[in-house]
Parts: sequence; structure tokens; C-alpha cells
Amino acid sequence: MTSKKGAASPSLHKVIMVGSGGVGKSALTLQFMYDEFVEDYEPTKADSYRKKVVLDGEEVQIDILDTAGQEDYAAIRDNYFRSGEGFLCVFSITEDESFQATQEFREQILRVKGDETIPFILVGNKSDLTDRRAVTLANARAQAEEWKVPYVETSAKTRENVAKVFFDLMREIRAQKMDTEGNSKSKKDKPRKKIKCCKCAIL
Ligand code: GDP
Ligand code: MG
Repeated sequence: MTSKKGAASPSLHKVIMVGSGGVGKSALTLQFMYDEFVEDYEPTKADSYRKKVVLDGEEVQIDILDTAGQEDYAAIRDNYFRSGEGFLCVFSITEDESFQATQEFREQILRVKGDETIPFILVGNKSDLTDRRAVTLANARAQAEEWKVPYVETSAKTRENVAKVFFDLMREIRAQKMDTEGNSKSKKDKPRKKIKCCKCAIL
């Protein structure tokens, strides 16, 4: 047990930002990474970021892939999505089209991951622009309920719920990993570990 803990580097949780162009994927990422609101991030630029954070007392690393439309190419998209352990699916509350587009992102993710329980949060961004709201809270919540995922409204501008969505998603990813570990241990990993353990004991 101790060797397992000692050998492991901090857990790495891989998050992918998806959603239509202009909804604030980069602004949310940069607000989380650097605590600043970037208004004019290059719209076609996809980038990845890594940060050490403390998640419920445990030091972990978060890897964020901020996508930027390249996922229109199926091969690139599938590669991106395959590498993700959790998804923030972002739309802008000021743009109904971006809300509708989340359905396609959800379908593509499920197709690639083949698992409905993939950590996933539906994020309604630009919550500070209340007078321009085009997607009702009720509609967004209904969509999330149908998918059995959380719905959170954020503002990359005021920081409202920005840390929350990343931390909540990491918690989901962590829970999913523990689940998978538990399952695989009870199947084929366990005997292998046992053999190692017995060898040690004999030596
Ligand atoms: P992306 O294409 O999804 O990466 O979107 P960007 O992060 O580049 O944001 C597009 C535009 O929306 C930029 O001008 C941002 O300043 C603006 N924006 C992003 N998030 C917010 C927000 O929460 N509130 C407001 N008012 N503007 C935002
Ligand atoms: Mg962007």
C-alpha cells in the first residue's frame, strides 16, 4: 500500500473544454489558470495547460485542453476526446445556438468514449450578461437533467463559479478513476499484485 502511494506522482486529471466558438472556453481556462480575464484570446488557437492544485487536501495536477474548432476534423476531434477524462461542455447563456450545439458535442463525446458516465458538466457561461440572456435557466437545467449531469452557470469575467466547475469536474474524474481501479483490481490486476506481494514476503 505504501509503495503504491510513494511511487505515484501527483494524480493527473485531464480536462477538455468543448463548445462553440466565442462561448468563453479560453476565457474560463485563462481565468482558472492565471486569475485574469482575457478578452481577446486568439479564437482559432487550441492550447493545453497544466497546473498543480490542491483538491480536498491532496496535491493533484490538472491538464486542460482548450479546443478551438479543430475538432471539426473528425480525426483530430476523436483524438482530443479520447485523451479526455472529463469534459466542460460550454455554451453562452446569451446565444441559443451555442446551447443547441452542446447536444452535438455530447453525442460526439459519448461516441468516442462509449460511456454515459464520463465526467461531464454542462456550463452556461457569461452569467454576468443577464440582460442578454437567451437561454433560460429552466431549459438548461432540463437538458442537464436529461443527460444526468450537473449544470453550472459561470462568468469568466467576474470569476463566478469558475474554480467550482474545474474542481467539481476533478472530483468526478477522481471518483471515476477510483471506481475503475476498484473494478479492474477485482478482475485481472489483483492476482498480479498478489504474486508480487508474496514474492516480497518470501524474500
Ligand atoms: P472561445 O472561442 O470559446 O475560446 O471564447 P473566448 O474565451 O475567446 O471568448 C469569446 C469572447 O467572449 C471574448 O471577447 C471574451 O472576452 C468574451 N467572454 C468570455 N467569457 C465571458 C464572460 O463570462 N462574460 C463576458 N461578459 N464576456 C465573456
Ligand atoms: Mg478559444
